[in-house]
Amino acid sequence: MTLLNEILSFNEKFVAEKQYEEFITTKFPDKKIVILTCMDARLFELLPKAMNFKNGDVKIVKSAGAIINHPFGGIMRSLLVAVYELQAEEIYIIGHYDCGMSAIKPEVMLQKMIDRGISRETIDMLSYSGVELDEWLRGFEDVSESVKHSVDMVRNHPLMVKDVPVHGLVIDPATGRLTLVD
Ligand SMILES: [Zn+2]
Repeated sequence: MTLLNEILSFNEKFVAEKQYEEFITTKFPDKKIVILTCMDARLFELLPKAMNFKNGDVKIVKSAGAIINHPFGGIMRSLLVAVYELQAEEIYIIGHYDCGMSAIKPEVMLQKMIDRGISRETIDMLSYSGVELDEWLRGFEDVSESVKHSVDMVRNHPLMVKDVPVHGLVIDPATGRLTLVD
């Protein structure tokens, strides 16, 4: 609990000293953009800085690998909410090189779950119930292909506004360089 305590005591000071004042803005993105990117820790500050965005400029949705797992899942819903309710007029899907999701092997991850106490019966039971764990956990081999696939899914989504531009990019997590892929 040390880290949690550290965070909470820092937070008390942060609020008491009104350090939040420099971040005050509205919930609407000033630049009318929503970004879907990866949860990779290297992108936390690098991505907004490399694109010249500050607090309040854009909405950022994150998922492992910037993957949209399901056309009617939480990630897609977030993009729809950004467009219909929060004034986003453009969508950027930004994967990155050296992504953890490109190394994910479902069978290895399932073994790790078993090693950490999830029973084989639970996994078998999910499989028998029709949950395709292998598919669900699978990452990608080529980040550009994966980004293109997500761009397609958003562009062709039956509930997405047809004239909202959807861009696909890949960012270098070391230098911040962006490459346009779609
Ligand atoms: Zn990643």
